[in-house]
Amino acid sequence: MRVDILSLFPDYFSGPFDVSILKRARESKLLDIHLVDIRDFAPRKGNYAKVDDRPYGGGPGMVLMPEPVCQAIRSVKREKSHVVYLSPQGKKLTAAKCQELSQKQHLVLLCGHYEGVDERALKEVDEEISIGDYVLTNGCLAAIVLVDAMARFIPGVLGHEEAAGQDSFQEGIFDAPHYTRPEMFEGIPIPDVLKRGNHAEIAKWRRKQGLAKTKRVRPELILKETENETE
Ligand code: SAM
Repeated sequence: MRVDILSLFPDYFSGPFDVSILKRARESKLLDIHLVDIRDFAPRKGNYAKVDDRPYGGGPGMVLMPEPVCQAIRSVKREKSHVVYLSPQGKKLTAAKCQELSQKQHLVLLCGHYEGVDERALKEVDEEISIGDYVLTNGCLAAIVLVDAMARFIPGVLGHEEAAGQDSFQEGIFDAPHYTRPEMFEGIPIPDVLKRGNHAEIAKWRRKQGLAKTKRVRPELILKETENETE
C-alpha cells in the first residue's frame, strides 16, 4: 500500500516510521510512505512560502489556505486514491475502520494545523477521521496513529505470532490478560489454567477474562456487540 502524508512538518514523521514493525513493513515494501510538504505548493515571496491567513469573519488563529492544500492533494491523487483529512470533526477511528482502510491501494492523509484548513479544500477529501474527542495542535500525530493502527491489518506486516486477530476489539471485546516468565512475580503467581496446557480451557478462560474487563471498563462495547448479533 502507498500512503502519502501531506503536512507542514514532514520532519515530524522521522522516528515513528523508522522503528520496529513499521520499519520492517517499509523495508519489505508492504507499506510505501511518502511525505509531502504542503509549503512546496504555496506561492513564494523570496524565501517565504505563505500557507495560512486570517479567518474571514474574525476570530483567533490562522487558517490553512485552500490553494496549497488542494494543489498538494492533486499532486499525489490518482483514480484509486482515498483522501482522508485528519480532523477532530471526523468520524472516530476504530479497529473496523483501520481494517477497511488497510484494503485501499493508496491513502492520502491530510494533516491540518492552526485553526484547520479552509472548508473549500475539503472538496478534494473523501472522509474526515478523528482519533478522539480532543483537539491536537496539528494532524501529524493523528496520521501516525492512523498509519500504525491500519498497517497492522495489511497482510504480512505482523508476523504470525503477532497477528491482529486476537487483539482487543476484534471480537468486540478486550483481549485477555497476558503473562510471561517468571512464574511468580513479587508474590503474584500466574493463573493456574495457563500452566495446564488444556487449550480449550485456556481459550474459555481468556474469553471470560476479556469479557469481564470489557464489562467493567467499557460496558457500551458489549451492548454494541449484542445489538450487532441481534440485527
Ligand atoms: N479548530 C479546529 C476545531 O476545533 O475543530 C481544530 C484545529 S486543530 C488545532 C489543528 C489540526 O489538528 C486539525 O486541522 C487536524 O488536522 C488536527 N487534529 C486536531 N485534533 C484532532 C483529532 N482529534 N483527530 C484528528 N486530527 C486532529
